[in-house]
Amino acid sequence: MSIVKTENLIYEYVRRDEEGNVDGAIRAVDDVSLGIRQGDFIAIVGHNGSGKSTLAKHMNAILQPTQGTVWVDGMDTRQEERIWDIRQRAGMVFQNPDNQIIGQVVEEDVGFGPENLGVPTEEIWKRVEESLRAVGMYQFRSHSPNRLSGGQKQRVSIAGVLAMRPRCIVLDEPTAMLDPSGREEVIHAVRELNQAEKVTVILITHYMEEVIHADHVYVMDKGQIAMEGTPREIFSQVEKLQKLRLDVPQVTLLAHELRQRGLELPEGILTTRELVQALAERKYINDRQDLSKSDHS
Ligand code: ADP
Ligand code: MG
Repeated sequence: MSIVKTENLIYEYVRRDEEGNVDGAIRAVDDVSLGIRQGDFIAIVGHNGSGKSTLAKHMNAILQPTQGTVWVDGMDTRQEERIWDIRQRAGMVFQNPDNQIIGQVVEEDVGFGPENLGVPTEEIWKRVEESLRAVGMYQFRSHSPNRLSGGQKQRVSIAGVLAMRPRCIVLDEPTAMLDPSGREEVIHAVRELNQAEKVTVILITHYMEEVIHADHVYVMDKGQIAMEGTPREIFSQVEKLQKLRLDVPQVTLLAHELRQRGLELPEGILTTRELVQALAERKYINDRQDLSKSDHS
């Protein structure tokens, strides 16, 4: 069973004039059907305004479909009486860590979620410790969040969601406001959660380097899913991505350009290591060809 499933999901923001009368609608999500398996690492990319955040907000019932249906762990998000179950099952992390941290002390902040759920105190402390350890922030447990770096704050936000024991965590551009080292910290923590804790991860990002580890990628355009597949399948289509106004990882682009110059390299190279390996193989083949040519002469 899918942990998150949408069927023909449509969402329209209502536009009003100065008097408050409805004068139109913006279709932000346009007929999206997808199913996300428990334990998967999913990436969602797309240029600004393509509907990523609107889609994400359906995954923990912040928004309700205009048409179509969304299920989280089998629960229809329209069932109001289950809204807290749904939010506990699918936690959400947003862009700005400063808007998500409310505690004066790191461990207190992480404990807020389970406390609100009525979890017994002893169990709260256990969860706080586990969650902070899972994101590598345990040693900062008695620090003030104000003094942490952006990457550290974002990891505390993630720990706060983890303390609710979600089956799925939706991160809406969690690294957009971070410097490169902060970005790396957060992505490392998120991958670890997925691999070690088996938490389903839905990562929305516009940094293509963060996508290459995903099991499956969705590319959004004008509220629709324009492309989907493994990172390699997606990044094999450089021109299509560029048409959708998306970047590709630098090394993928370099390999693509080398191919266009006639070098026989596979499409969809994702890492420097893969490129080096492919180039070394080319060199090996060329050397062999040179050798056999000289044998015949
Ligand atoms: P993304 O996260 O990919 O940038 P969004 O889901 O934020 O895309 O936005 C999709 C579309 O919906 C855009 O055209 C945007 O202008 C519009 N939109 C987003 N939020 C609102 C809102 N609160 N009211 C009206 N329109 C909105
Ligand atoms: Mg957004």
